[in-house]
Amino acid sequence: MRILLVEDEPRMASFIRKGLKQENYCVDLVADGISALQEAEASDYDLIILDIMLPGRDGIYVCRELRKRGLNTPILLLTARDAVEDKVQGLDNGADDYLTKPFSFEEFLARVRSLIRRDSQRKVTRIRIADLELDQLSHEVSRAGTKIPLTAKEYALLEYFMLNPNRVLTRAMLMEHVWDRNFDTLSNSIEVYINFLRKKIDKKFSQPLLHTLYSRGYMLSEEIP
Ligand code: CA
Repeated sequence: MRILLVEDEPRMASFIRKGLKQENYCVDLVADGISALQEAEASDYDLIILDIMLPGRDGIYVCRELRKRGLNTPILLLTARDAVEDKVQGLDNGADDYLTKPFSFEEFLARVRSLIRRDSQRKVTRIRIADLELDQLSHEVSRAGTKIPLTAKEYALLEYFMLNPNRVLTRAMLMEHVWDRNFDTLSNSIEVYINFLRKKIDKKFSQPLLHTLYSRGYMLSEEIP
């Protein structure tokens, strides 16, 4: 899952980014409203976390502008002020949720998860394909009841596959959702990680789930595509 974080205060930005990365989210950071508008339109984010008080254009403006342009990515607003007008204004301008600083990181993460889930109409946090299971809360993955330890990147990759089963996922889609913008598109990282992941989830099992579709992309499916 890839998140755009819009926050001008370096310490706050670094705190949030670090915490989200620990939870396996990809995070792109910008520090002002205009960059936020550009980035939000340039990439397909799963969530936008938007501070209200920003230099230049503020978060309310950015929110309104994004909705006007037809973008329906979930938006979580952050502000230092606990003012009712801010909250109402934010929600009226298309934000999905609102959090007042300082906040507990636990609550923040719960809201992030809930917004990403709501967006994809998902109510469950455990996803299952054949005998492969992934728990979005604990980040545990198991196949046929045996736990499979994954690195952060492998987990992020598998989660994206499990949320989009039986669907061809192109390199571009994987890049958009599993890697952040610092990713070198010329490198063979995607293939490398697909191979790591396949070794862990498929190698010891008779039924392969992660398929390569020549020149098209990859698919997670119980059936051979
Ligand atoms: Ca700010």
